[in-house]
Amino acid sequence: MPYIETSIMHRAISSGIISVNLNNIRDWATDKHHTTDDTPFGGGGGMVMKPEPMFAAVEEIQQESGECPVVLMTPQGKQLNHAAALGLSKMDRMIILCGRYEGVDERVRLHLVTDEISIGDYVLSGGELPSLVLMEAVTRLLPGALGAPNGASEDSFASGLLEYPHYTRPAIYRDWKVPDILTSGNHQAVNRWRRKQAWIRTLRKRPDLAELIKLDPIDIIILREISREEEITLPATIAHIIEGNT
Ligand code: SAH
Repeated sequence: MPYIETSIMHRAISSGIISVNLNNIRDWATDKHHTTDDTPFGGGGGMVMKPEPMFAAVEEIQQESGECPVVLMTPQGKQLNHAAALGLSKMDRMIILCGRYEGVDERVRLHLVTDEISIGDYVLSGGELPSLVLMEAVTRLLPGALGAPNGASEDSFASGLLEYPHYTRPAIYRDWKVPDILTSGNHQAVNRWRRKQAWIRTLRKRPDLAELIKLDPIDIIILREISREEEITLPATIAHIIEGNT
């Protein structure tokens, strides 16, 4: 799959952080036409992926490389998020099953699959893109996979907050100037500014995430500033905490 050869996954493969084996389910079909789908019992439109090739493929791979999670990409699964990607990043290996057509025979889901993952509440035609999304989300979290020393630790969701805004050269573009603090060379001030901006955008865009964050003493000071300076209604739980600490 070309995407794997160009993305961060390519780097991770070259440096031995991950390896990816692509398998074609047709190779485990036993009839001469390599049939992997059939019409649904009970009638209705569409085709369903047959159970035998899926079981044969997974069992053969597990016999060679050992037991591991078997993830089915499906719009009916648990929606992928940072926590789920982090959980899977701790696994030595996993098998990802991609469906096509109407999806897979229910016995695959019941007796072969250990995790069902969705990439969002919409339906695509196959599990290939969802599986790439999952693989990249997991790969980014592996030590050494990203070039930067901090890796993904400052990315949105990793700390619970959305990430602060980024600026690069030129310092003035049209009439829009980069915030002075970022060109001041004062790293401590930059870090504090970034934390405050991360809070402001999380409170504005994703108050649901803001409520889940464990507050450090510096967060309480920053949140008091925000409530004085910005037109933002703080979630009740946060408002309660910062008022309680005055
Ligand atoms: N008829 C099914 C949808 C089948 S879509 C239903 O209504 O639930 C065909 C295949 O695409 C699925 O088997 C799955 O592997 C993949 N797929 C489609 N949308 C997806 C999503 N949002 N997340 C993960 N996989 C998805």
